[in-house]
Amino acid sequence: MNHREIRMMISALVDRELDRDGEALVRKHLASCDACAAYESEVRTLSAEIRAIPPFKLSETFPSSVLRAVRNEEAETNLWIPVESFARRFVVGLAAAVILFVGLAMTTQPEEPVVVEPYLVGEQADSSATRALLGTEALSKSDLLLAVVSRE
Ligand SMILES: [Zn+2]
Repeated sequence: MNHREIRMMISALVDRELDRDGEALVRKHLASCDACAAYESEVRTLSAEIRAIPPFKLSETFPSSVLRAVRNEEAETNLWIPVESFARRFVVGLAAAVILFVGLAMTTQPEEPVVVEPYLVGEQADSSATRALLGTEALSKSDLLLAVVSRE
């Protein structure tokens, strides 16, 4: 028998519900196990404390006050139900709007920015500035410097 099984029998021992063999078994274990003996002492103390509580009578209004408290709690819960369903619908609506927005953003490609360079169109001057500005590769710092210095 392990400690757990013995502890389940200790409560029965304290309440004198064990037969002679069961009691002998538990007492033998308690003699050799400090932890279970401490548990038995705890159970005996608790049992004695419970028995020491004087009997008391509930007031006449106790059942109706319990009933009233339960009904108030139910009413409060019912008060929150519409709020919760509204919140749920709001969250679902918001999620749908986000999905719709993201879907639209993904299907409608942003228009290519139209770069209008009227001051460069048609003017094929071989200036460094034009070459620098029309160059397809990224402008380097020296390109810009050259364009500024050699401005005509
Ligand atoms: Zn034990």
